[in-house]
Amino acid sequence: MDIGQEVLKSLKEEITEIEYNRYIKFLAYDAKKSTSDLAIFYAQNALVSNWIKSKYTEKISHLFEVKTGSKVSVMITLKNQIDSKKSKKPTEEKTQHSLLNPSHSFDNFMVGGSNQFAYATVKSVSEKPGTLYNPVFIYGGVGLGKTHLMQAAGNVLQNQGKVVIYTTVEQFLNDFIRHLRNKTMERFQEKYRKCDVLLIDDIQFLSNKEGIQEEFFHTFEALKGAGKQIILTADKHPKKIAGLEERLRSRFEHGLVADIHPPELETKIAIIENKCRLNKVKLSKDIINYIATVIDSNVREIEGILSKLHAYSQLINVDIDLAFTKNVLKDQLQENRANITLDLIVQSVSKDLNIKPSEIRSKGRSKNLVYARRIAIYLCRELTQNTMPQLAQYFGMQDHTAISHTLKKINELMKNDEDFKVKIEELTNKITSSS
Ligand code: ADP
Ligand code: MG
Repeated sequence: MDIGQEVLKSLKEEITEIEYNRYIKFLAYDAKKSTSDLAIFYAQNALVSNWIKSKYTEKISHLFEVKTGSKVSVMITLKNQIDSKKSKKPTEEKTQHSLLNPSHSFDNFMVGGSNQFAYATVKSVSEKPGTLYNPVFIYGGVGLGKTHLMQAAGNVLQNQGKVVIYTTVEQFLNDFIRHLRNKTMERFQEKYRKCDVLLIDDIQFLSNKEGIQEEFFHTFEALKGAGKQIILTADKHPKKIAGLEERLRSRFEHGLVADIHPPELETKIAIIENKCRLNKVKLSKDIINYIATVIDSNVREIEGILSKLHAYSQLINVDIDLAFTKNVLKDQLQENRANITLDLIVQSVSKDLNIKPSEIRSKGRSKNLVYARRIAIYLCRELTQNTMPQLAQYFGMQDHTAISHTLKKINELMKNDEDFKVKIEELTNKITSSS
């Protein structure tokens, strides 16, 4: 029995039989490709793989440590992914940076108002690399599809036989340090300056790292001078990245800077439908709509939600219906909202309505105060796990009946007053996206 099998056998003793039989039993350990600090396992499909990753990797890694006495990173993946990656000219240098995810294609990218500019830009440079805009700089929040888009261009160009390097700033830095240490800097420079397309993800991490900025600057100049396409992503506009050399900033701005916004409802729905298709999960229209309204913006959450739904429905053997979905998502929402506090809500309401937090929590009876207090109470009830007595205490009210009375009032208002409803929605969005 190899170490991987041993570990899985021990894991079997720690989890339920149902869990083991549904997920872990089919995990295959790759003794050949695994190394002393990396354990590779294959799962049957992407959903099971995601599920195992989120639920069991820590346990597995711990068991490895117990058995081998050293720290081991655990990689759960799909067999064909590693094989298809391998079949592409596996030179020694190529294994040093990340590989492109083949499912990040333009076809799988749903376009809407929030991302059409970024999409059009990246698509056009994938058709005419190095000639239109260089560099292309895509920025926006977490999970909005920046990596997906940049890799879609990478996939197109790689399939045409171009040498594409996709890397994060961290990998670029590690690679740099390794070559520096081994005194093989010419190889580092050759590798990055001779590629046809350079994709660097999350470039904001260059911030305050002078040495690597210097090296990156020369790489950048060499590539740009040779008409090679560069695509960069970041979480913010180049102007807003602190600790970035001026010459880099001005070069980033000199190409084409495109932003991505959180997707609007229709785009979210299209994304969910697409993910369902890709992962072979069947969901009804109303469930898809529900998921789309419940998640605020981070598209990455959609995958987590789908694998959760899929896994739970398998585990307890029920069909996925709306009630089931709501139940499963309850946890998800609570996780998302774990860092929303009463103080945070009161502060947001205070800022928005220009009323001091202490006044919102006071017993003042003026019309404005009562209005602000009601909104704050309602949001506290909706967005946190506090009970009515807890809220009564926080807002200095006699007891929970006062809270319950306020909530009733608000619910009536929500029904009859469209402006009020919009106000509440706006505030909810502000609070949930800032937390
Ligand atoms: P970012 O790099 O902006 O943090 P990613 O590119 O990693 O985000 O996207 C997170 C997940 O959401 C990925 O699985 C990606 O495929 C998916 N995704 C994001 N935007 C879209 C979209 N417009 N259409 C389809 N999938 C999307
Ligand atoms: Mg990314």
